[in-house]
Amino acid sequence: MALVVMKFGGSSVADADKMKLVASRVIAKKNAGNKVVVVVSAPGDMTDKLLEMADKITLSPLAREMDVLLATGEMISISLLAMAIDAMGEKVVSLSGYQAGILADINYTKARVKKVNPNKINSFLSENNIVIVAGFQALNSKCDITTLGRGGSDLTAVVLAVGLKAGSCEIYSDVDGVYTTDPRLIKDAKKLEYISYDEMLEMAGSGAQVLQSRSVEVAKKFGLEIHTRSTFSKNCGTIITSEERIRRKKMEELLVSGITFDKNQAKFTIIDLPDTPGIAAKIFSSLAKVAINVDMIIQSAAVNKKSNISFTVSREETKKTQIELDKIVSEFKDSQVACDEHVAKISVVGIGVKSNVGVAGKMFEIFHKKEINIKMISTSEIKISCIVDEMDMVKAVEELHKEFGLSKKK
Ligand code: ASP
Ligand code: MG
Repeated sequence: MALVVMKFGGSSVADADKMKLVASRVIAKKNAGNKVVVVVSAPGDMTDKLLEMADKITLSPLAREMDVLLATGEMISISLLAMAIDAMGEKVVSLSGYQAGILADINYTKARVKKVNPNKINSFLSENNIVIVAGFQALNSKCDITTLGRGGSDLTAVVLAVGLKAGSCEIYSDVDGVYTTDPRLIKDAKKLEYISYDEMLEMAGSGAQVLQSRSVEVAKKFGLEIHTRSTFSKNCGTIITSEERIRRKKMEELLVSGITFDKNQAKFTIIDLPDTPGIAAKIFSSLAKVAINVDMIIQSAAVNKKSNISFTVSREETKKTQIELDKIVSEFKDSQVACDEHVAKISVVGIGVKSNVGVAGKMFEIFHKKEINIKMISTSEIKISCIVDEMDMVKAVEELHKEFGLSKKK
């Protein structure tokens, strides 16, 4: 008998009717001849609500108590789902994260899973139960409840699938898979049949909110395939798997899988910095000290012993960055800071990028044709990103999506 781990996100268990729909999908999976372990998130936006409640009490909550609070959301989902399944006549048991044997390190609010002890789940499964596990929570070595970071129920599903040696791991939500770009922006965006772990991580890092990144990293490490799909339709979703498996399955040449965009960007340039060792170290370690996350960085070649450095931060950090840079730059004669808040990052993502030298050239050519000015460029093995004016963002995504052949065939 195959073992399946099914995970349902908050919007799939947001009310009683949805909870009953989930119960019937779980039972159908069992009736098809599987052992079933179900992981659930807190209903709807309950985790946000719990955070707001804590916020009204204190701005500096104890991390341990925060985890006690946040873990309650998933406890509501497991008990209600168990009642729904029982009412439909199936044997069922619900378990908290720690009853399920999920053991984590001692970091509160973003604990890392250290071990899964599957004995209890296995014994309930062997007694023909559907086992429901609270996502997002674990037990640490002090016997305290911890949580695994926002979106952590995905990680619960993945570590359980690995720990139980499940045949498949299915992650259900209100979207039916991973798209070539955001279908809310580009009408003819296509659902992808497959996407590699690395592409998924790059797309998540560039704004596509499908799975928690850490869960993808763990799945990659253990070679676990994830099937993301919709709770509300029977359609197949997107399989997240290894590059080799995708290459074996696909006959045609692989080039680009998706176009991502991110408006949450601000670009800073420091002009006329002294061209001496230690300048970049000074700037970026000062920013790191105040926890400002820097994304792209470029430095110009020096002219007359002066150079410029440009970098991007997320837009909500603009003020903080400006204050910090003003302090740093006041130490250098002639240097000045300029900020451009109206920029967007556009990325072309695909495992074909590394094997096909033409992708970057093609991207720049498309921008040229549409008179889109590129302000910064950065590349990784499977991604090319450009910073452009915010006003050019939609046009840029539309053109790249079309020209790289990602649109639905008419
Ligand atoms: N309920 C948690 C959150 O909203 C965990 C999850 O949904 O995966 O972040
Ligand atoms: Mg959630």
